[in-house]
Amino acid sequence: MDAQQLKAEIQALKKETGTIILAHYYQVLDVQDVGDFIGDSLGLSRKAADVKEAKNIIFAAVDFMAEVAKILNPTKTVIMPDKEASCPMANQLRAAQILDYKKKHPGLPTILYINTLAEAKAECDVICTSSNAVEVCSAVANERGVGSILMGPDKNLSYHVGKRTGLKVVTMPEKGCCYVHDQFAIEDLTLQRERYPGARVVVHPECKPGIQDAADYAGSTTQMLKYIESEMKNCKEFIIGTEQGLIDHLQRKYPALTLHSLSPVPSGISCKNMKKTTLAKIHALLLKIKAGNVKKNEITVEASVAAKAKSSIDAMFKYSTASG
Ligand code: SF4
Repeated sequence: MDAQQLKAEIQALKKETGTIILAHYYQVLDVQDVGDFIGDSLGLSRKAADVKEAKNIIFAAVDFMAEVAKILNPTKTVIMPDKEASCPMANQLRAAQILDYKKKHPGLPTILYINTLAEAKAECDVICTSSNAVEVCSAVANERGVGSILMGPDKNLSYHVGKRTGLKVVTMPEKGCCYVHDQFAIEDLTLQRERYPGARVVVHPECKPGIQDAADYAGSTTQMLKYIESEMKNCKEFIIGTEQGLIDHLQRKYPALTLHSLSPVPSGISCKNMKKTTLAKIHALLLKIKAGNVKKNEITVEASVAAKAKSSIDAMFKYSTASG
């Protein structure tokens, strides 16, 4: 079956089985095409919590995002086309490490990036995303009357928060990062600016501090998207420091813009974990749903972990006005 046939069958099977597909911007365009909602982690969390009619939620993303959907909407069947699609950054921080850090830094609020496992979320006070990290960390620190926080697992997001809030941020683990965004080098930025002198540089806060500082704008996936949309009347060319899926999404949506990856490699940088989801796997999963045979693809979170993790996620919604 070619891509068009697969897409047509997927649409029909979604209706027949009462299934909704939530897809991250880092998915390939073919997968984004069959998504009922495309978003970043904050947008997807809000959407997952809101799903009412559908019985099943297919998560076209990585495992921690599907776990969030299950925690927020436990009566739904949350399934992944490929359960091996796991986030290496989330896997860098286990619950036991957080307990150790808390012992060493008593009294500090513990704020975790949403890119964490459910067992880690269960051991923190509040969750944040890159869209609302500055807002959430600043509100929590003000409320507690402290100048320092514990944060994990991304040292680069910690830098972003520290720079904008003036807080001292202790990162758990010290060198945690996203291998995709951490690959961009300051030399890449210098080279791309020389090649495209009229272009603005827009980067994700998972990029290294030197890149954030040298860019024209640093913000979450949705914030980058909004920045480009608001500035495109003044500038038609952008150098973008994030996963290739967002660049492809924007290029298709705005063909009049000239977009380059911050990486000088023509294909840009992709997350191989996000790319484990394919149209063929989504199609195969829908057939399994139809046959009532999804156990192997289903996401489950142990009830006591889910309850604790949910209260940290709910706390984020209390502190955050960002929509995703
Ligand atoms: S892009 Fe980075 S943070 Fe996102 S899933 Fe891949 S490794 Fe994890």
